[in-house]
Amino acid sequence: MSFIAARVGDAISEIDTPALIVDLAAFERNLVKMANLATTAGVRLRPHAKTHRCATIAHKQIQYGAVGQCCQKVSEAEVLVHNGVRDVLVTNQIIDPRKLRRLAALAKSARVALCFDAFEPVTEASLAASEYGVVLDAFVEIDVGMGRCGVPPSDALALAMAIDQSAGLRFAGLQAYHGSAQHMKNHDERKAAIESAARAVRSSKESIEQAGLICETVGGGGTGTFRFEAASGLWNELQCGSYLFMDGEYASILDHDRQPYSEFEQSLFVLTSVTSTAVPGRAIVDAGLKSYTLEKGLPAVHLRNDIRFIGASDEHGTLALNAGSRAALGARLRLVPSHCDPTINLHDHFVCVRDDRVEAIWPISARGASS
Ligand SMILES: *Cc1c(COP(=O)(O)O)cnc(C)c1O
Repeated sequence: MSFIAARVGDAISEIDTPALIVDLAAFERNLVKMANLATTAGVRLRPHAKTHRCATIAHKQIQYGAVGQCCQKVSEAEVLVHNGVRDVLVTNQIIDPRKLRRLAALAKSARVALCFDAFEPVTEASLAASEYGVVLDAFVEIDVGMGRCGVPPSDALALAMAIDQSAGLRFAGLQAYHGSAQHMKNHDERKAAIESAARAVRSSKESIEQAGLICETVGGGGTGTFRFEAASGLWNELQCGSYLFMDGEYASILDHDRQPYSEFEQSLFVLTSVTSTAVPGRAIVDAGLKSYTLEKGLPAVHLRNDIRFIGASDEHGTLALNAGSRAALGARLRLVPSHCDPTINLHDHFVCVRDDRVEAIWPISARGASS
């Protein structure tokens, strides 16, 4: 059984708390803005579904021109394809032959792509694709500065050639995502990080093309850096995810004018109620760390600079009130999670609101899909 905090048509005041809510007007502005930015820049958009884990949202992004979805996990890809998404890229290293067979099975009903940074999985993926009689699109992942997965640019050609020579695999291009650049505080730091990533992409691409292979797609870019990738002339597919919702981590980075990064609006909140005011200067709310994650810090209280969020336990949040400010028993507050993706994965549904009403409930259909 999954518990639903509201019904369509309810007033916002009737939503049971805590609840994960989406301000639809802000969400839609974010959705459309990114779609338009990609179109204007002449690049494709393949948003990352690891953020929303929701087939309904995937279809909205595709309706606004996205070519498909990125996934981090085979199980996320399965949920999306079973819900009608026809083009998925797993931006991750899949090495288990059983997982590779699951992807091959999925390729019976969708275009399925995946990334490689080693030779053994290329062999295994080729076997899986041949077994199922499908073709998998294969990307070479290069490390462009994040220091996680990906080969150094000098090793990209050998892997691309191995892919090209493998039955059941089609060499599709380069995966080049710089995750750690996304939240660098200053605009110029992010710009420099992507300039450096661009050098890695250029050298990889040149060596591959000189050998006669075609780098059809270069994918990467996130919410904090996508303008740089889009303007580089190298990347042609953006993978942004957080832009739909934003979070505290993105709220803390700065734009070129040294003002807070305001490209997109906060649209995701944890709605919570004050349940205790027994101690003066303090308020306790009913949303604790089972409603938002803490690895990037405590949530903030939306539009209430007079309230500081100072602590969280399983089912409680503790707020410190400035002298003279009030948060009455039963008062409802909107919390801004510090990190949207793992917070969403704690919930079964998005409760979507517009003006004063609940307009829709969207299941987080790939919640927990981490295999
Ligand atoms: C998370 C991720 C993104 C999206 O990053 P956001 O900061 O959420 O926009 C893009 N590409 C890859 C490979 C990712 O892992």
